[in-house]
Amino acid sequence: MTENDEISFIGNVSKMFEQAAATLDLPPGLAEQIRECHSVYQVRFPVKLRGEYRTFTGWRAVHSEHRLPAKGGIRYASVVDQNEVEALAALMSYKCAVVDVPFGGSKGGLLIDPRQYETEELELITQKFTQELARKGFLSPSLNVPAPDVGTGPREMAWIADTFRSLYPNDINASACVTGKPIARGGIAGRVEATGRGVQYGLQEFFRHPEDVKMTGLTGNLEGKRIILQGFGNVAYHAAKFLSLEDGAKIVGIIDSKGGCICDKGLSIGALAAHRKETGSMRGYPDSVYVENGISVLELDCDILIPAALENQITTENAPRIQAPLIAEAANGPITYAADLILRKQGKVVIPDTYLNAGGVTVSYFEWIKNLSHIRFRRLGRRLDEIRGQEIVTALESMTGKPAPDEIRQRLIRSVDDLDLIRSGLEDTMRKAYQEIREIYHSRSIVPDLRTAAYALAIEKIARSYLEP
Ligand code: NAD
Repeated sequence: MTENDEISFIGNVSKMFEQAAATLDLPPGLAEQIRECHSVYQVRFPVKLRGEYRTFTGWRAVHSEHRLPAKGGIRYASVVDQNEVEALAALMSYKCAVVDVPFGGSKGGLLIDPRQYETEELELITQKFTQELARKGFLSPSLNVPAPDVGTGPREMAWIADTFRSLYPNDINASACVTGKPIARGGIAGRVEATGRGVQYGLQEFFRHPEDVKMTGLTGNLEGKRIILQGFGNVAYHAAKFLSLEDGAKIVGIIDSKGGCICDKGLSIGALAAHRKETGSMRGYPDSVYVENGISVLELDCDILIPAALENQITTENAPRIQAPLIAEAANGPITYAADLILRKQGKVVIPDTYLNAGGVTVSYFEWIKNLSHIRFRRLGRRLDEIRGQEIVTALESMTGKPAPDEIRQRLIRSVDDLDLIRSGLEDTMRKAYQEIREIYHSRSIVPDLRTAAYALAIEKIARSYLEP
């Protein structure tokens, strides 16, 4: 294969897998067992809408069941097929392994342009799709648990959970059949923003390692770094918001499906989102330049490029013109295998999707545990925290003979809530996983980049689950 050959999405994922497997000493046949998709279900079902029957096509791929349930989002998109769903399911297996989430990998897709349908129609279509998946064992708290992805969100997840519950009213764990639900319907604090939050934690951890930052030619931390993001949906919006408001990064470009919005001074993410909501587009946002050909904005000068929309966005065609020294893959599969080779030759550093966008599935894991345990994480400990904190304040005051300053008192008696716990679990997960990836990259000379290191880490962990008695 030369640098100019482009292949399918699943072909790209397989090539990346093989590159990593070749650096490992696996028993014969095991790499193939880990790489291949175990099963795919394709369904066509009719829904009566606007006085006529319309037929919809959907898929659910289970890439790996080395751990159960298999986990992965469901996307609603006008371009989705079996190949794409299989590739995304494979990425889920590797991602879960990288961040030590004990799930197999799965992914689903429904061929639909959601914008063409009313809310009630989408609910009906989702109910039918859910029934089809549940009937064939591709939806269940113990076997296969979907989550949101492109074109779906908490609303669709609530519809899925309601339908599953009505099919299996005796299943006490029914609400664990899907994650990413609204909090009032069994969801968990912090899930909506989890993938964007994970991108932030992943980048923060990268910048904690000067040796790694040096590979990019950048210096310091995220403060003042000029960032361009592709996408302005769930993942991109939250990543952009946290990186700009909390880390002091400057968002100098955002690309959505209609075009790109550029502003050297830095965009205000909240104001841009409000403008887009009001006018339907980023065009005309004050002090910015609007570019019709959004994808060309990927090639502009910046410190960090974050593709956070779709797969196959950086190909052999545009890879040679990418200027950012650091590319952080928030989307799944945004760089093709052939483009990856070009970027590596140019000395670009890629933080790979198999690690960087794992925040969503990590917090989905927390939600699934919460649903199975039927209790809010902090319900038993909250009051105890406050009592303990008050005891410390009282002890300090009696030892010093002075009242504790208000700020210190508040900090000590404040109890940890569910959101604090989720954030801390997510941050710890992202930090530890990056440290494991960089350890492989720096200690094994045959591992050429962070992506191969992440794949190697995943393959080793999955292999262990097959080999250990
Ligand atoms: P979303 O539907 O909320 O947003 C998608 C965004 O992509 C939209 O802003 C849309 O305008 C933009 N877009 C669509 N086509 C485009 C194009 N041709 N050029 C530029 N922009 C385009 O989806 P999301 O949940 O934010 O997912 C984005 C990516 O992140 C996907 O690759 C998804 O698989 C991945 N991901 C999502 C999650 C999650 O929790 N939602 C978790 C892990 C990975």
